[in-house]
Amino acid sequence: MLEIVKHPSDILRRKAEPLRKPNLSARRLLDDMAEAMYAAHGVGLAANQVGVARRLVVIDVGDGLLKLINPEIVRRDEEIVEGVEGCLSIPGLQGKVPRHRRVQMRAMLPNGRVEWFDAEGLFAVAIQHEIDHLDGVLFIDRATEVWETTDEPEEDESDEDSQGEASAGGQRDTQAAETR
Ligand SMILES: [Zn+2]
Repeated sequence: MLEIVKHPSDILRRKAEPLRKPNLSARRLLDDMAEAMYAAHGVGLAANQVGVARRLVVIDVGDGLLKLINPEIVRRDEEIVEGVEGCLSIPGLQGKVPRHRRVQMRAMLPNGRVEWFDAEGLFAVAIQHEIDHLDGVLFIDRATEVWETTDEPEEDESDEDSQGEASAGGQRDTQAAETR
């Protein structure tokens, strides 16, 4: 199983290199990244996060697994929305991050075909979060607010700390976040 690199680490700040075409090692890496993402209950993972500075991303926001090569955003809606995000490489932190509400992405699939995606909601957030990783950018760089999360497995509803409750609620919304 691939190990997920934790912040701070140089590889998380490197700009990843594009691939000319999907070769066998890239396809294998995408499979291994998907395995690591699911094991960590994530909704997205970029190759930087497993120590490889290549433009490879896996995403599954609940609509099935996407394995993406050289993903790029080709159009951004002007409208900005703020949501709660976390990152598998930054355990214990969440933040409020402004993102484009809708984006259009172009990416190569493992079979070499180039496909276009229109994304909004969690899918749009995941795309922006993961492509940021490929450029060495982390959600904490963009966050307007960052806070610590408790790593307790069960959520304590009786916690008098309202912040805790708010982030627990947000977590359900942005479960991806926690696991990106
Ligand atoms: Zn991340």
